[in-house]
Amino acid sequence: MKYYAKSLSRLISELSKLPGIGGKTAQRLAFHILSMEDKDAVAIADSIVEAKKNMKYCSICGNLTDIDPCSICNDPSRDQSVVCVVESPRDVFAMERMKEFRGLYHVLHGAISPMDGIGPEDINLKQLIVRLQQNDIKEVILATNPNIEGEATAMYTARLIKPAGIKVTRIAHGVPVGGDLEYADEITLSKAMEGRREL
Ligand SMILES: [Zn+2]
Repeated sequence: MKYYAKSLSRLISELSKLPGIGGKTAQRLAFHILSMEDKDAVAIADSIVEAKKNMKYCSICGNLTDIDPCSICNDPSRDQSVVCVVESPRDVFAMERMKEFRGLYHVLHGAISPMDGIGPEDINLKQLIVRLQQNDIKEVILATNPNIEGEATAMYTARLIKPAGIKVTRIAHGVPVGGDLEYADEITLSKAMEGRREL
């Protein structure tokens, strides 16, 4: 990028650090930003700085929040006896979009993956056990991803907490809505069969 002015190449190189943004897209975005009104470009930069400064992880559930404890842990109208365990704060947003679940969350920040050298002690599991010991939690819903790592994490977590007499459930994974049965892979199909319920 020798033919670019220093500030421009810096902008392009910073933008290309974002996931899914290759060199070409970074260039296009950089030129677009430079063509914007000053205040609009500054607002983008400011929002990044502000979010990085204010957002933190909830000390109870591990969700991303700007207040601690987060607004979900702080909400007395939510069912304090049910905890839904997810891998990332993005999953909390997905569940909340659904507007059906009224319990609490626990974010693991990852999944057990021996292949990548990630063991149970590398994810936010210890804090879950502390929560279960200190609170009257009746059900733990394991909503980790339906892949090998997510399944391994769910199995491990279930084995860990079942002896405490807490009900442990796993969300049913199945054929995506709008998906065709014939195109579903074997794991998806067998999970769909496992998760069947009576109608
Ligand atoms: Zn929280």
